[in-house]
Amino acid sequence: KKLNSAELRKMFLDFFKSKNHAVISSASLIPENDPTVLFTTAGMHPLVPYLLGAKHPEGKRLCDVQKCVRTGDIDDVGDNTHCTFFEMLGNWSLGDYFKKDAINCSYEFLTSEKYLAIPNSILAISVFAGDNDAPKDTESANLWETCGINKDRIFYLPKKNNWWGPAGQTGPCGPDTEIFIDTGKVKCGPECSPACDCGKYIEIWNNVFMEYNKTADGKYIPLTQKNVDTGMGLERTVCILNGFKSVYETDLFLPSLKLIESLSGKKYGADIEAAKAFRIIADHIRTAVFIIGDQRGVTCSNVDQGYVLRRLLRRAVRYGRQIDLQKKSLSKIAELYVDNYCAVYPELKANKIKIIEEIDREEERFEKTVTQGLKEFDKIIKEISDNIIPGNIAFRLYDTYGFPIEMTEELAKEKKLKVDKEGFEVAFTEHQKKSSLGAEQRFKGGLADNSDITAKLHTATHLLHQALRQVLGKE
Ligand code: ATP
Ligand code: MG
Ligand code: MG
Ligand code: MG
Repeated sequence: KKLNSAELRKMFLDFFKSKNHAVISSASLIPENDPTVLFTTAGMHPLVPYLLGAKHPEGKRLCDVQKCVRTGDIDDVGDNTHCTFFEMLGNWSLGDYFKKDAINCSYEFLTSEKYLAIPNSILAISVFAGDNDAPKDTESANLWETCGINKDRIFYLPKKNNWWGPAGQTGPCGPDTEIFIDTGKVKCGPECSPACDCGKYIEIWNNVFMEYNKTADGKYIPLTQKNVDTGMGLERTVCILNGFKSVYETDLFLPSLKLIESLSGKKYGADIEAAKAFRIIADHIRTAVFIIGDQRGVTCSNVDQGYVLRRLLRRAVRYGRQIDLQKKSLSKIAELYVDNYCAVYPELKANKIKIIEEIDREEERFEKTVTQGLKEFDKIIKEISDNIIPGNIAFRLYDTYGFPIEMTEELAKEKKLKVDKEGFEVAFTEHQKKSSLGAEQRFKGGLADNSDITAKLHTATHLLHQALRQVLGKE
């Protein structure tokens, strides 16, 4: 069925509502109670306490559309399916139904005429192959077969592909079963399976079965509360349903590509390099819009989420130059995203001005140095003798020209060079030590003895007042 993004969001939630799930709203992109990660990377993330046993106020069956950011996927951006920001459709059972109902629901939603109506002949399924720790997940495989999936379209894959849970650590974990679309491409070889990235199979949905608790002595004990956690990519699924080649042709991206065309005077798809630039700009600006415009939004900085945002925006500026984007184009693209998404995410509308201003401001900061920095970079690569850019030079590009280290690495890669990242870290720490030492000294020399200073200030003020009164003859 050729659904657009709004239709798919609604259909997904309506379907799970009809299966007695409560619809919950998307949590912030910036995790509230988890300082170990910068962004919410999956629908299950904000639900961790409930998956671990806390009672959820909405009950045991939940569904939602969750905003996600995966900075780890940044190098894949430009391909057909990976974005740094995406929306994940998910359904959960908190100790309620398990494999049978989960798989039946997935199958019904995907293939029923009433819902997505995807022919089951183009679906491919992966299930856990089993190993010394945990058994082969024949239960899931059998359930898929009962639904009507052909045996030869079910692939048994190892932990690397079909296992959820903290690797090497203790805690809840279990097998998952993933749903792929077979694009019809010829197999890349006899071993071709959904595990390979030849492009034949596109993953759209993951069903995780939290089944075991891994103990400190490495045993896998069945959990008393067994959970289901699923995640389906909105962008990918809309892409597949419409027979598009990439997520960029969906209604979520197409308007911004058109705008980039008019702002740059270039045609999307005219050449491969430019198309990559289009995609990266469209992706990164969308992510920036959601990070700045989040209910817990941030602005650019040199640490944590703010640094990720900075990297995304500076990368967008750099690719913008490749296709001759004029200044302040990025914020125009951002504005378009705000307008197109604000019906679903009203926080974007509330933060519209902040988003536009922050993007313009960061572009301006970077523009001031980027031309010089790129010149400097070209000079450097002519001068180095081996194929490695020294750490102190990478640090200078960072410190003087505002090049995020990842950008220097990327520029280097384009020229088939490497960057001494360790050397960079050393220079960076060295610099930090120096500047924080400075701060400490200032602190000691001045404000450390706070109470003393305040007292002296009081005395001085008192004396001054006395003197003034004497001079003015009022005492
Ligand atoms: P892939 O193998 O393609 O990188 P994944 O296994 O990392 O995907 P999951 O963690 O299983 O993805 O997330 C569930 C679903 O979220 C995926 O099946 C996919 O539809 C979607 N998804 C994951 N990563 C991205 C991304 N970077 N951009 C868009 N959608 C994504
Ligand atoms: Mg991935
Ligand atoms: Mg995967
Ligand atoms: Mg997956």
